[in-house]
Parts: sequence; structure tokens; C-alpha cells
Amino acid sequence: MDAGSPDNNAETSEQDVDMEIKEAEKEEEEEREEMKAERAATKQLVPYAALVKTFEKCEQTTKRLEITEHLVMLFIQLCPDYEGLELGIGESIIMRAIGDSTGRKPDAIKKSYQKIGDLGTVAQESKRSQSTLFPAAALTVPHVFKKLKEIAMFEGQSSQARKIKIIQNLLVACKGNEAKYIIRQLEGKLRIGLAEQTVLAALAQAVVLSDPKSKKWSTGTREERLLRAAEVVKSVYNQLPSYDMIIPALLEHPLEELLDHCTMRPGIPLKPMLAHPTKSLTEVLDRFEGQNFTCEYKYDGERAQIHKLEDGTISIYSRNSENMSQRYPDVMEKIQKWIKPSTTSFIIDCETVAWDKEKKRILPFQVLSTRKRKDVKEEDIKVQVAIFAFDCLYLNGESLLQTSLKTRRQKMMESFIRTEDEFFFAESMDSNNIEDIQHFLDESIKNNCEGLMVKLYDNEHATYEPSKRSRNWLKVKKDYLAGVGDSVDLVVIGAFHGKGKRTAVYGAFLLACYDPETEKFQTVCKIGTGFSEEQLKTFHEKLKDTVIPTPRSDFMLGENPIKPDVWFKPTQVWEVQPADLSVSPVYMAGVGQVDPTKGISLRFPRFLKIREDKEVEDATSSDQIVEFYLNQGRND
Ligand code: AMP
Repeated sequence: MDAGSPDNNAETSEQDVDMEIKEAEKEEEEEREEMKAERAATKQLVPYAALVKTFEKCEQTTKRLEITEHLVMLFIQLCPDYEGLELGIGESIIMRAIGDSTGRKPDAIKKSYQKIGDLGTVAQESKRSQSTLFPAAALTVPHVFKKLKEIAMFEGQSSQARKIKIIQNLLVACKGNEAKYIIRQLEGKLRIGLAEQTVLAALAQAVVLSDPKSKKWSTGTREERLLRAAEVVKSVYNQLPSYDMIIPALLEHPLEELLDHCTMRPGIPLKPMLAHPTKSLTEVLDRFEGQNFTCEYKYDGERAQIHKLEDGTISIYSRNSENMSQRYPDVMEKIQKWIKPSTTSFIIDCETVAWDKEKKRILPFQVLSTRKRKDVKEEDIKVQVAIFAFDCLYLNGESLLQTSLKTRRQKMMESFIRTEDEFFFAESMDSNNIEDIQHFLDESIKNNCEGLMVKLYDNEHATYEPSKRSRNWLKVKKDYLAGVGDSVDLVVIGAFHGKGKRTAVYGAFLLACYDPETEKFQTVCKIGTGFSEEQLKTFHEKLKDTVIPTPRSDFMLGENPIKPDVWFKPTQVWEVQPADLSVSPVYMAGVGQVDPTKGISLRFPRFLKIREDKEVEDATSSDQIVEFYLNQGRND
């Protein structure tokens, strides 16, 4: 289903639509016959009115608990087939159907819509002004859902007319408030505050409470079982997002066994794991401190979950679990080549990007977005794509969700074949050193990527968490880093003796910015990276003659000062690249401007070069440091 696609196909003329409506009417007649038989076969179909009552109750409250309660009541009564449909039928089709079924003029409907802003209510009011000669039979939930599903699945030429016809018939049969919600369901937005997680919790609770013994439980036991049940159903749904499979299993098996009966399988798309945004590399380092992580390029394309069933069927699903196989006939044709013979079934997580075959490089997202999304014919395809695989969730009959990313990546690499211009493994780098990461980030941007994905790599938490925006995956986009791109020029005022190989030289230095107002050097960071061995030697040579026994009175060190092994008379200015700036009780840059007693410090500073052209008083000022600090928050 193509949620939200504009359905007002301008190429189809009014007459064409009328003709198609006639054809569809014929089909409808046959349908009616079919329905009669269906009704005769099923004695107790749930009235759609019951569902509408629940929708109304949900709409009248914003309290999640109450909404859940209403749903629980409904599910206890019904336990029907429930289809999580996302229809997104275009407004123009709906307005036309409302007009056709109520006899109101299109202009009048448009006006009401502009005034009311909700097509559901417009439909409801339009019906009110219409007198019905022959009251239709009451709508039932299975019937309405069957029709919604049909509408969602219609494709191609005469689909518009057929959709209108079905909607029209539904509207004619509506009573009470039914029209309002049917229309909203068609639009794909009920707007009653009913989130998927609430539906799942309510389903679980309905199962627990339909146990006759539940009435005798203490409040504590009840609460605990309800919570636990919701957890089970939610985690099952994450792996197998299909009410069609979960609900029958819930009715048939005890809750504790649900996971055994509802496991993930190729052919049913999982909700993908998502990443948490970060503003800086230091935030990444802080988050993953003491744990191994891996960095991958963040490709700027479209997510693709590729499935292969044991019977050989291959499908590609979008981030929203939409089947995209027909949109990528060129990819579908090639996939088989990338699979090793020993790989019998799988689900892999990938990104599709536009690819320049000549220059062998990724093209920007804008190029990919020019590809047609519907009725794609292979011979018309102009924009080539390449697939970058970054995860494997299922392999040869087994779920890999609970294994670590390290294992999943390894298995993926063993099971597929990198194929020039077509299929690649996402570029990755496992070093946890900030300079390597910075370099990798720069490379990713040069290669038309959006930045990096940094992922927990090999401990027990490095699992694949479907549908979660997890903190175990962090995204670092180049745009987020805009505020800290500038380097600063700082004065060397102290040093620490080197350790290990570096005992003969200084291993790290204390740097300060300059405050022209007070004429003081304010400490701002300690720096130990970015130097070559050669540079360290030279600096030792130069600086050892400037050593002073105690810090000068124009050094502002604060109450908890950092204590270098030696102090220098200020002579040298160095250009330094910080990864981040933060408020610190130890450093004094701009003290009093952001905090009364704390200053600002550079985090993970990297040495770039000596500024021979600058005097110490020309160093970056305290005000500038404060400005850099405040600027980096502008992407909050
Ligand atoms: P965002 O849409 O900004 O939340 O970023 C998440 C999206 O980045 C995912 O849905 C993927 O489509 C895409 N992506 C690109 N490269 C990777 C990667 N190496 N790992 C995970 N997701 C990726």
C-alpha cells in the first residue's frame, strides 16, 4: 500500500471514471451475492457499530489507561480478525465518493471540508442531510475490513473507479456515526489517540482477563500478569507484526507459549531498528565508554529489508514494511547472484542508493528520489541503484536477533557475495579512537553519505531491537556537527612529562585562551593527541628554555586547577581542533559567562599546527570560546 500517495490521477477523465464505475458495479453485484452466502455461513458477525462505539469512547478521552480499557472491553467481546491497514486514500477520491453516495455537489463538499477540516465529519454530516429510502443491512466488522483491504489492494487502471464504488456502497450502508470513522480509516488516520502499542497492550489484557480465574486474583497479581502479558505480546509483535497470525495464536495457545508459535519468518517484514541522534562524537564516546563499538557509513538512500524464503521467493520491503519488489525489478533480477549457494533463507537490512557506474560512486539522495515509484518497467529505469547491506536478522532458518552485531555481521559476510556496482557490505571501521572516527566521518561525507552510524558491537546488549529507536545505535550526521567545525588558536602555558617511549619529551600540554579585558590567560584544555614524535621533540627543545618555576599571576587557573609538571612563559600559539566543548569545574575559559565558577573546556582536542604568525595576545579570546560553546547547541 502506498500510504499517502496522491490518488487524484489527473490523466483519468471524468468519463473514463464513469465507465469504470459501471464495470465495477457489475463486479459489485457479484460481490453482493458472495456476501449473502458469507452471512449465511457465519452466524455472529460483529457489528461495525460496536467498533464505532469504542472509537467514539477513545476519542472522548486522552487518557491512555481509559483508551486501553475501552479496547480491552471490545476485544473481550469480539476477538475478531484485526487488520492493521494503512490505507491513505486520497482526499479527492473520498470527496467524490461522499458526493456520489449522498447526492451533494462536489463544491459543497469541498466547502464543508475547508470549514470542518475532517472528511469523516463531512461524510457524517452529508449523510444526515440525506434521506434513505431503503435502509441497508447493518455493517459488520469483517465486512468493513474486507472492503478496506480490497480498496488498499486495488492497483492499476480502473482502480480509482472501483475504490470510489466500494466507498460509496459502504457510505450508503452506514448508520449513526459509522460514516465518520469509515472515512477516517480510509484516510489512514483515525485520530482517536489509539497508538499501536495501546492496541497491543489491550489485546494482551483482553486475553488475561478472559481467563475466568482472573476475577479471583489479588490486585497485585492482576497488575503483574497484565504487565507481563503486554510485554509478551509487544515483543512477539516486534518479530511478527501480523495481527492475522498473533490473534489466532493468542486464542489457541497459552500466553507463555506465544513466542514459540509466533516467531519471525522471511516473508513478514520486521519493523526496523532505528538509531538515536547525537550532536557530537564526544556524546558517542561518552555513551559507549568502556564498550566496543563499530562505525558504519550512514548511506543516504532508502531502507530495504530483503527477504528470501526457503522456497526461493525473494521480496524487498521498505522501512514501513511496504512491499517494494515491484518498484525495484532491476534489483530483484540480480539478487540471486549475490547469495552464496549455502544460504537458503535470510532477512538482511540494507540501504538502496543511487549509483554512478562510470565513476563508481554513490549519488546523492535527490537522484534516487527521481526514480519512479509505481508501475516501474525495467527498460525505462535510468537511475541505477546499488545495495549496501549492514545487518542480517535471519539466516538459514534461524533468527539472529539475539546475537551480537559482530556475529551478525560476520555471518552476513560469509553468506553473501560482494558484487561490483550492485551489492556491497556497508563500509565499517572498528577503531574506538576519536581521531580515527573523525577521519572515517570525513571520508563518509566525501563519499556522499550522510555521516556515520555508530553501533554497539560485541556485548550481550548488541542485539537487533526491531522497531526500537535504540541508544545502542547512534547516528552522527554531518549537519549536527556544524557548530564545532572551527579550530581555535591557543597558548601553551604548561606541560606534562611523557610516559613510556616519550619520557625524554613532554607528552601532553596545558593550553589557554586569552581574555583581552582582564589580560589573563584562562586554562581551556589538556592536549595529548595529534603530535608526531618529531614534533614532540622539537617542542621539547623549544619550550624547555621557557620554563618558569611557578605559574604567572596572569594565568587564571581556578580553584581546582589542573597541575602540569612544568609551567611555561607564554610564547607559542597552536591551532587546535576540538571535538566538542563543555562546561568544566577544572578549566577557566570564559568563567562567569556560562556558569559563575566554571569555565568552558575543549574536549578531545587535536593538534593541527603552530601559528607562527600569531602573538600570544592574538590567541582565540574567551568570548569566542563561549560563542563556540553556545553555537554547538543550535541543533538541539
Ligand atoms: P534516520 O532516517 O535519520 O533516522 O536514520 C536511520 C536510517 O539510516 C535507517 O532507517 C537506514 O535507512 C539508514 N541507514 C543508512 N546507513 C545505515 C547503516 N549503516 N546502518 C543503519 N541504518 C542505516
